[in-house]
Amino acid sequence: MIKNKKNISTIAIHGGEEKVLPQRSLTFPIFQTSTYYFKDTAELVDYMEGNVERGEYGRYGNYTERVAEKKLAELEGAEECVLFSTGMTAVTFTLLGMLSKGQHLVITSDSYRRTRQFCLTYLKKFGIEVSVVEPDDYKAMEDAIQENTKIIFSESPTNPYLNVLDLEKVVEIAKKHRVKTIIDATFATPYNQRPLDFGIDIVTHSATKYLGGHNDILGGAILGKAPIINAIRDVRGVMGGIVDPHNAYLLIRGLKTFALRLEKQNQSAQTIAEFLEGHPKVTRVYYPGLASHVHHDIAVKQMKGFGGVISFEIDGDLDAGSRMIDALEIPFIAPSLGSVETLIEQPSLMSYFELSTEERLAVGIKDNLIRLSVGIEDTQDLITDLQQGLEKI
Ligand code: PLP
Repeated sequence: MIKNKKNISTIAIHGGEEKVLPQRSLTFPIFQTSTYYFKDTAELVDYMEGNVERGEYGRYGNYTERVAEKKLAELEGAEECVLFSTGMTAVTFTLLGMLSKGQHLVITSDSYRRTRQFCLTYLKKFGIEVSVVEPDDYKAMEDAIQENTKIIFSESPTNPYLNVLDLEKVVEIAKKHRVKTIIDATFATPYNQRPLDFGIDIVTHSATKYLGGHNDILGGAILGKAPIINAIRDVRGVMGGIVDPHNAYLLIRGLKTFALRLEKQNQSAQTIAEFLEGHPKVTRVYYPGLASHVHHDIAVKQMKGFGGVISFEIDGDLDAGSRMIDALEIPFIAPSLGSVETLIEQPSLMSYFELSTEERLAVGIKDNLIRLSVGIEDTQDLITDLQQGLEKI
């Protein structure tokens, strides 16, 4: 564990880790165990009385998972972190743990589709009311708050339009009405933005994305003050959904190069967003690092960099977008984002496939929209590839 204050790239490597590991292993090992034994009954009773901190059963915790949690907590400037098997488990268990029947939640409209689906269908089934407001309509956000409102939940930046919320404003509204705030900061990561520093209560991440960074794990995290995060740890202990030891190991490994990856992705995405904005076949680019982005000023104020995801609209229809994408040599056509490989998708054919064009438009998804998650390949190679792809429109 590092004692003096360090910068994020040092924390990514050393944070949460003990200096002396079993057998002088340099990397923290995978504790591939589902349970832990007690030497004798006295040791068990000692543990049950809370006199020692140690493993008991895998659904409650695992040493490899714990190191990943501590590393993430240090990166995010949080007192505590709880890891889950997926980003959705982190979001859903947190909301289920914090809300009861008859209570009310405010969410913002532009968000990962499954999160919205969970709030609008599953939470409603449990008698929890949900109001949806636009991400930058702070008056609507405040007006939506009722006596039974417990939480304001939003992504920032949002998926897929990269809306950036003014976190200070959100906190001001929430404090005035004694409401808790949760920000899904998957797109930003603690490299680019630390919502807790602005007074947000809880941060969630899909660790599947930038934190893992290699498209080889699923994971989710929630972070914040110890009492609230540990209460959600108890929810996980009852319902399950803990990240498995091997994935926790891969997350620790992925985090070691986190700062390097994010720096490259920030730079590359900025250059590519500028290239796209100047291209005649591209009608609109959504990237917070561009002066043309509706939330550029807030992004500059509260983010260190703007991440690797760019959404853009082309001068053509769904098929024209597919022709462009099919012509590309480097990006994979795949859901997800934030990995070392560049990924590309048309939201209309991926997350929103089962909806009609009209239904998609009702939730703001246009058929000419393309989402690009910039990896760490050579920036010029990606631009050359996009250039030849755009010629097929
Ligand atoms: N939050 C955001 C912003 C996402 O984009 C996603 C997935 O795309 C999730 C949460 C869900 O994460 P996971 O796929 O790890 O469950």
